[in-house]
Amino acid sequence: MGRITLDKVTKQFGDVQVIPPLDLTINDGEFVVFVGPSGCGKSTLLRLIAGLEDVTAGEIRIDGKPATDLPPAKRGLAMVFQSYALYPHMSVRKNIAFPMKMAGMPEDEQKRRIDNAARALNLTDYLDRRPGQLSGGQRQRVAIGRAIVREPAAFLFDEPLSNLDAALRVGMRMEISELHKKLDTTMIYVTHDQVEAMTMADKIVVLRAGNIEQVGSPLELYKAPRNTFVAGFIGSPK
Ligand code: ADP
Ligand code: MG
Repeated sequence: MGRITLDKVTKQFGDVQVIPPLDLTINDGEFVVFVGPSGCGKSTLLRLIAGLEDVTAGEIRIDGKPATDLPPAKRGLAMVFQSYALYPHMSVRKNIAFPMKMAGMPEDEQKRRIDNAARALNLTDYLDRRPGQLSGGQRQRVAIGRAIVREPAAFLFDEPLSNLDAALRVGMRMEISELHKKLDTTMIYVTHDQVEAMTMADKIVVLRAGNIEQVGSPLELYKAPRNTFVAGFIGSPK
């Protein structure tokens, strides 16, 4: 499961309305990309869904259940942070185990989940290394592993590849797409990079100043951009 509904979700910081009332449905299993220029509200929207920010008004539902007032840990979602959020002094295994340990999960269940995540991410041979002994791509996979073991209803990514070099970014893009197919769960992926949006998404949400300019598949947006902003951003010929 992993259906997320936003119903007139609004966010104000002080007097500034960063997200005007916004409606959006993300279907179970969908790979949804929020795309738009820097400062348009992508991270804020993701953090509202994750529960890391409180909505000013409106409602968020996860699999039909109201989630607006639930703390992040109770929403059943996992935010993937950039790989530099790893603990350098801990092994890969311990880094991945950390959220489960904090939750007091039995050791054998922790082990089962770590083994599953390591298999899905091709990290089985690296579990006893420390982050400093890994490549950038491997470190990013460990950060994803830490989310997988929570077996979330959806994964939330905020520009996870922005601190990787260009060549590595291309590879990681493919790995994340492959992981989406393997795990068959909802993923919401934030980026300002239109190439990432066009190559990875089932559904693209184009944002400008907190407003949804258009929602559609990459092909729909390419063929029929609603306005010049979308056309310009997506690189459509129109
Ligand atoms: P993006 O991720 O698309 O670059 P953000 O969601 O980070 O955009 O920011 C959207 C707007 O909200 C920006 O104008 C930013 O300055 C503002 N903003 C974000 N977080 C805060 C905050 N905690 N307090 C005040 N303003 C914020
Ligand atoms: Mg951001």
